[in-house]
Formats: sequence, structure tokens, C-alpha cells
Amino acid sequence: MPDHDELRRFVVGDLETNCYAYVSQGECLVVDPGASGARIARALDDVRVRQVVATHRHHDHVCGVRELVGATGAPWGIGATDALRVTEALELSSHVLDVRGSELSDPPVPDMLLRDGDTLRVGTAAFLVVDAPGHTEGGIVLVGRGSAEGIAFVGDTLFAGSCGRCDLLGGDWDAMAATLGRLPLAMAPETVLLCGHGPQTTMAEELRTNPYLRRDPRGPSHGGA
Ligand SMILES: [Zn+2]
Repeated sequence: MPDHDELRRFVVGDLETNCYAYVSQGECLVVDPGASGARIARALDDVRVRQVVATHRHHDHVCGVRELVGATGAPWGIGATDALRVTEALELSSHVLDVRGSELSDPPVPDMLLRDGDTLRVGTAAFLVVDAPGHTEGGIVLVGRGSAEGIAFVGDTLFAGSCGRCDLLGGDWDAMAATLGRLPLAMAPETVLLCGHGPQTTMAEELRTNPYLRRDPRGPSHGGA
């Protein structure tokens, strides 16, 4: 990432979701505002929020969207398959998780339905949309291009040392196995992976150490929702 671009991280909600803002040339792309949308908007009042994107439909990645887009007027998007029923994210999650906390609201109907191969642009950066089903049916990964070359937003698909669980809404171990097989081919090994929860890592480090990238992922699962 060049000097003139900037990455801001906000840890939001009970599940400590990483919400990221990629800032380039005075505009930014916000990824996964899972809660606290108004607070995120205030922290970005020095830039133009051009787009808001969720990597998948779980409540801890979309329940800050309404306040954020309300405050900024930015359009918001999500993978086309995950867009189905995303406006009920909070209610759907409440059936399987003990959802608590304030600053959560269901997102509005998405403005953009993202598909594999789409490109999102912000300043001198671009992000390629790569389908990544498994954690949910319509999860996506955003791979940096242009001035964002070398980073990727991987949501809850891949974590440092782990992968996203597949026993929640929309999860499918077979799809996850296929995604984990394809994902390393979609980016250079030195790519920095910005995960939906926990620390960042690199694809090279995960290829070396992550057991879920080295064998069939059906096994003990952990990680954020
Ligand atoms: Zn999730």
C-alpha cells in the first residue's frame, strides 16, 4: 500500500468484528460495519465514503450498515446470493446466537449485488470481488488491485490459523473446502489478509501453517460468527 493510501480499523460489536475503511485520494471503501455505524461515520467525516460492502450476511458484519449509509449517503453492496434475506440479519442470527449489544440494526435493501469478477474502485485503488462460499452461501473476498495491490479483505473465510465456522446460517463444509482450495490462487502469496475477526496475517504464512489450507477443513471449528 503506498504512502498516500490509508487503512483504518474499527473493532465493533460483541463479537469484536474488524470493520475496515480503505482510504485513497480522499474517498474510502468501508468493509463489514457490523455495528456502531454512526460512530464509524463520525470517524470518517474527513473523507467521502464512496461504498460500503459486507463480505457476508451475518449480523456482526452488516448491522452497522443502516446507520453508516444513512449518515453518509453511500451505496452498499453484498454478494448477490447473500443479499437474500440480509434485511433480516438480526432476527435470523437471534435464532442461533445469543445476540446482544446496542448499536445494531438490520441493513436496508442492498444497492449493489456483487458477483465474482466485479471491481470496486476507490481513489487509486480497486478491489476485485472473488466468490468465497462456505462460511455463508454468498460470501465474498475482496482482493486489492491498483494502489491496494497486496492486501485482501477475507471476512470470515480465513483467519490466522483457522477458517470460518460452517455450522451457522448458510454454512457448507464442502463449499468451504472448495473455496480454500481456490483462494490461494486468487492472490500473490505475500498478500496481507485482513480478517473479519482477530489479527491480520499473510497468505504465505497461512499456506505454511494453517491446517485448514493443508487438508480437508471438516473438523473442529472456531472463529467469529
Ligand atoms: Zn460470519
